[in-house]
Amino acid sequence: MVFSDSVAAFYRFIPADSLIYVMLQPMFKPAAIIKADDFVGTRHKKWDTFLAFVAKKKLRVGLGLIANSLIYADDDAIKQLKSLNTFQFEFFLHGWDHRVEDDIAEFQGTSLREQIDHLQWSMDIIKNTLNYTPHTFGAPANRYDSLTTLALRQFPEIKIWFFGQPYSGLFILPHTVDAESARGLVTDPDQFAFQYQHYKDEAAIVLEVHPQLWEESQYERFQDIMLYLLKEGRRFVTPFGYFAWKEDKNKIRLSWTNETAVIIDCTDCQYAHDLVFLFKPEDMYPIEIGIPD
Ligand SMILES: [Zn+2]
Repeated sequence: MVFSDSVAAFYRFIPADSLIYVMLQPMFKPAAIIKADDFVGTRHKKWDTFLAFVAKKKLRVGLGLIANSLIYADDDAIKQLKSLNTFQFEFFLHGWDHRVEDDIAEFQGTSLREQIDHLQWSMDIIKNTLNYTPHTFGAPANRYDSLTTLALRQFPEIKIWFFGQPYSGLFILPHTVDAESARGLVTDPDQFAFQYQHYKDEAAIVLEVHPQLWEESQYERFQDIMLYLLKEGRRFVTPFGYFAWKEDKNKIRLSWTNETAVIIDCTDCQYAHDLVFLFKPEDMYPIEIGIPD
């Protein structure tokens, strides 16, 4: 990416590493990841409300798709799913049939063969229907067993596991603060802030929510929590967006072509990024940091 607009001359005195940090400062903020569970392949008024809300607020969201729901998806639903911007919305694997019973769940107490099959069917239908490869997994009810790691290892495209098994070889996003105090009930914002203080140094926190159960009042609470986290200096990002940036952030190089243009060289990066800049190139004049005498 080349900025042909003017760049304040003093930037030439800032080491390239710091310059990356200055320009891409929003990307280095600690993360808040929305994990919206139980998304399905048919249009649903509550989901439409949620998607419209997060689109308007420009929040990035992980949508936990129950894969077998795509069997019954109609054209309207598929069109909607395909239209979602993949930098803003990530579909993550939330099981094939979302089986959750007292003593058994889709990925707990079932055989390795079943677990692999369910992942395979899910990957296949999501790829074939939406032309989309999932990179993140979150088990139904977050219940899994020792076979789940073995099953997931059959799918190298899956890199990230919500609330998963540590040392599984996948990137684990751990359970921290509760965005819902009970399923479908957003945590009281004051309670959330109190809980959050315990996790404020975490590089990433996950907000697990079930918007298909939300009434209007839940949105007010959720908005308060969202504003609180933004004030706390977090950025909202998808799970894969967070993982990809973590992998690549030290591989971006900056260099000058001349006095007024800078190249952001991402050729060593493994993944695509939707970079967020602290300011637009045309805003670079004037800026008030570190001007040498
Ligand atoms: Zn679920």
